[in-house]
Amino acid sequence: MPFSDPQQQTYDLIVIGTGFAGSFFLERYLAKAAASAQILVLERGKLTEHADRVAARATDTTALAEPYISRTGDPDKRWIFSVGFGGGTNCWWGNAPRFLPADFEMRSRFGVGEDWPIGYDDLEPYYDRAEAILSLAGSDDAAPYRRLTGYAQPSHRLTAPEELLRQAYPHQFFSMPSARARVHGAGRGVCCANGICQLCPVDAKFTIQNGLMRVYEDPRVTVALAAEALTIDHDGSVARGVTYARNGREQTATADLVVLAANAIFNPVILERSSLAHPLLGRRLHEQVGVVAEAFLDGVESFGGSTSVTGIGYMLYDDEARRRDRAAVLLETWNVGTLRTEPGRWRQVLPLRLVLDVVPDVANTVRTNPADPTKPQVHYIGHSAYTQKAIDQAQSDLERVLAPLPIERIVVDERLAVSEAHIIGTTSMGNDPATSIVDRDCVHHQLRNLLVLGSSTFPVGGPANPSLTIAAQAMRSADRVMV
Ligand SMILES: Cc1cc2nc3c(=O)[nH]c(=O)nc-3n(C[C@H](O)[C@H](O)[C@H](O)COP(=O)(O)OP(=O)(O)OC[C@H]3O[C@@H](n4cnc5c(N)ncnc54)[C@H](O)[C@@H]3O)c2cc1C
Ligand code: SF4
Repeated sequence: MPFSDPQQQTYDLIVIGTGFAGSFFLERYLAKAAASAQILVLERGKLTEHADRVAARATDTTALAEPYISRTGDPDKRWIFSVGFGGGTNCWWGNAPRFLPADFEMRSRFGVGEDWPIGYDDLEPYYDRAEAILSLAGSDDAAPYRRLTGYAQPSHRLTAPEELLRQAYPHQFFSMPSARARVHGAGRGVCCANGICQLCPVDAKFTIQNGLMRVYEDPRVTVALAAEALTIDHDGSVARGVTYARNGREQTATADLVVLAANAIFNPVILERSSLAHPLLGRRLHEQVGVVAEAFLDGVESFGGSTSVTGIGYMLYDDEARRRDRAAVLLETWNVGTLRTEPGRWRQVLPLRLVLDVVPDVANTVRTNPADPTKPQVHYIGHSAYTQKAIDQAQSDLERVLAPLPIERIVVDERLAVSEAHIIGTTSMGNDPATSIVDRDCVHHQLRNLLVLGSSTFPVGGPANPSLTIAAQAMRSADRVMV
């Protein structure tokens, strides 16, 4: 049984968290580790079977994170993540594009944001491996980035207006790379496009439970559920282990290597509690801004695609001049949305979501809350002027790039999405210990046997969905510490 009470106190490796970062790291680590290796995984939450989730109809994403944090600053800004075995794989939507090479070089190419200490080439082989594990459905003949191998599954079927966009922009618009299965063979259900993917009723999207459970069933691994990591124990230069709370009492386990993969809200707070202070720890918190829009069409019927988010557009993203001036936009086109009310024209509308990147601001922070140390305090004052400029021009930008469609009118919703649920930036990676928390391999600058994984290490997020990059980066880090 992978889930049990830890029987010993000494391990080769302790991993904190069972989401994308912890699980994909383990997948790669176990492939190289000795047969005698002993690994302890600490997971704060419990395991909920898919059938029990569906029975409970647990679809309210805005309720996911609020019990675990306190918030100051912008009262409308929400932070959404999922606590429990599998982390965000349980509630994610399954959109899995890569970052563009330029996303890693924002400062040197466009003079905004930060450069990453690694580039697209460093991650490329790991993108391939992560995509294979996710068994992505995607289009092999179109992408603005280089790919070495084909997708595991054929691409999802586009809607009629999306097909027109694909013909108009053959290298910039195509089927969304998706962890929602297109056909049988991925070991999970086939997507039937009902569009409530945060709790897929037919289990069509990748989760740890349906796609990577083998790492937790490995006999070398012990998983302690309901085990909340409190501190990384260390002597100032070497991590010695982890103190965690379980069954109402504090326990300690020691290890040669510790991996912190608790997400961008909890990673900095656990480091802060461990007396690993740094001027940038918990700062530069950011996530992309989402803007919803609808394009009303004249005579073209939408819907009829084979999944929820069917199309991805780079027309406002892969653009050097634009990115020096204002945020890039990843354009998602949807196969689910509100129908029109006019008789005979119900389906003549294309739902869109614009996902805009943000320049991180040190004033946006996650800190331990002195009044309630059990909850991180998230302080958010707002997104960057760089992003706002792009929001202000969203209407005219859409009118331009959607011109190949028979457009009646475009309506951009003035309310921003409460959250893209892509939390980034609070333990940034970099080459200089003075301006970053971890190095290019995600090794903590001070404790060289501590890895910090996940999008907390991203110096800047770009507009693309982050989880494929989280998985690829975690696998790369495993390779780097196992040489
Ligand atoms: C509704 C929704 C839709 C999304 N859709 C997409 C999408 O389509 N595409 C995409 O790329 N991304 C999407 N995301 C984002 C995605 O879920 C995150 O990027 C991803 O889950 C982050 O992975 P992670 O492993 O770093 O952290 P998490 O997945 O958050 O995992 C962290 C783990 O650590 C555990 N943990 C936390 N604190 C402790 C502690 N103290 N001790 C022990 N364990 C602890 C948690 O229980 C959890 O298991 C979506 C998110 C949401 C909420
Ligand atoms: S569109 Fe429907 S079937 Fe497909 S992943 Fe989402 S919820 Fe599941």
